[in-house]
Amino acid sequence: MTARTKLVCTLGPASSTPKMVQGLVRAGASVFRLNFSHGTPEDHDRMVALVRQAEEVVGRPLAVLVDLPGPKVRLGQLDPDPVVFRPGQRFELRPDGPGDETGAPTTYPGLAGDLRPGDRVLLADGAVELSVEAVEEGAVRTRCVAGGVARSGQGVNVPAERLGLPAVTPRDRDGLARAFALEVDLIAQSFVRGPEDVRELRSLMGSRNLPIIAKIETRPAVEDVAGILEEADAIMIARGDLGVELPNEEIPLIQKELVRAARAAGRPAIVATQMLESMIHAPRPTRAETTDVANAVLDGADAVMLSGETAVGDYPFEAAATATTIASYAESRGGPFRAIPAARHHTTAGAAVAHAAASIQASELGVVAITCYTETGRTAKLLSAERPGVPVYAFIPPVDVRRAMCLLWGVETLPAEVPADTDGMIALMDEGLQIHGLARTDDLVVMAAASPTGRATTNMLKIHRVGSSVR
Ligand code: PEP
Repeated sequence: MTARTKLVCTLGPASSTPKMVQGLVRAGASVFRLNFSHGTPEDHDRMVALVRQAEEVVGRPLAVLVDLPGPKVRLGQLDPDPVVFRPGQRFELRPDGPGDETGAPTTYPGLAGDLRPGDRVLLADGAVELSVEAVEEGAVRTRCVAGGVARSGQGVNVPAERLGLPAVTPRDRDGLARAFALEVDLIAQSFVRGPEDVRELRSLMGSRNLPIIAKIETRPAVEDVAGILEEADAIMIARGDLGVELPNEEIPLIQKELVRAARAAGRPAIVATQMLESMIHAPRPTRAETTDVANAVLDGADAVMLSGETAVGDYPFEAAATATTIASYAESRGGPFRAIPAARHHTTAGAAVAHAAASIQASELGVVAITCYTETGRTAKLLSAERPGVPVYAFIPPVDVRRAMCLLWGVETLPAEVPADTDGMIALMDEGLQIHGLARTDDLVVMAAASPTGRATTNMLKIHRVGSSVR
């Protein structure tokens, strides 16, 4: 089962078996997320091995995405656990010591230095709202505004713009080192506040420059998404924390705004969290969830993501298959309802070639596919950004580049040998299409590539009749 919109599935206890990972691939998943906020290093090692094993079985590359925890403050140990908060109750956030109904330590001892009277503090994904009354002797004295239940280790959300924690915490550095050792393909950065946060993570990568997906989940990030898109390779609209940091009713329009900004910048956007939430415990989604997945596709997202549904749910396979079915229907029948994308600027030869390829495909010539030969993946990204009406087949020699392309809307990658020259490159695409059953003799395709091969960036466009190449 496939859709042109890609599917990211989070792995967890419910999906960490060979059968389930392979089942998720058959249900449409091409990217697997390992959330480094949860699980042990041994769990993560096993998950990567399962994805690589699934690649062998299904015969195509899959991407592993490591999601770094980022500067998230959490409650320390509580006793009793959970603590039930009632409106009016006083509660102290302390640098250390035990936790009970009167107060608790957090994972950030410097918290008092960042907060002021009147600030709002949310516990447990917004289940409890506290208001800061005073900051004294390293402790934050608060009063409960909206009651609820909070447990040990749950999140403490404070105004992101004033949080003094570094963008990349020691835990993230450790996670990044493990991600490199595991040879993963994509890195997601949590709680990004601005472009400088992405630059900081990038500077730690050195020559192993993996694509960075900036998670947009704070107000400063929403406000400077254009700047973030200049630094990051993709964005994730992380609606879980976004809905804690910002009023819920703002999320639908922010989603549209962020997808549109990503499309204009030619960067992939993933819409994430609670897409099919009820499927954690039920084999079928609600009508509202079905509509949410379809709307993400119509907004123009490159990928949708499942979290608890596939990580801890009772129906991981069904959730993935449902997301694919909904996306595929919205793609094939939703044309008239698709968001009108913001104008893209085609300021490089490569972007102009991709734009021309898509417009030739849209003509009445009857083009059945667009192909490209790319060693870095650049041409495939440019073609995907144009959202052509036919499949994009990207011939790519390095398997790690093929894996990273798994996030790209409408792109399917194929293996290739490095060709000797431009004629060889055209021939490998021509033959590859036929060998893999993707086109027939005399079909018309558009080819985009760089010539001379390996010594130029995307600069060539060919309208090609399949079967007519000469080596
Ligand atoms: C989110 O907050 O929506 C998200 C994707 O991040 P996490 O799953 O790490 O909370």
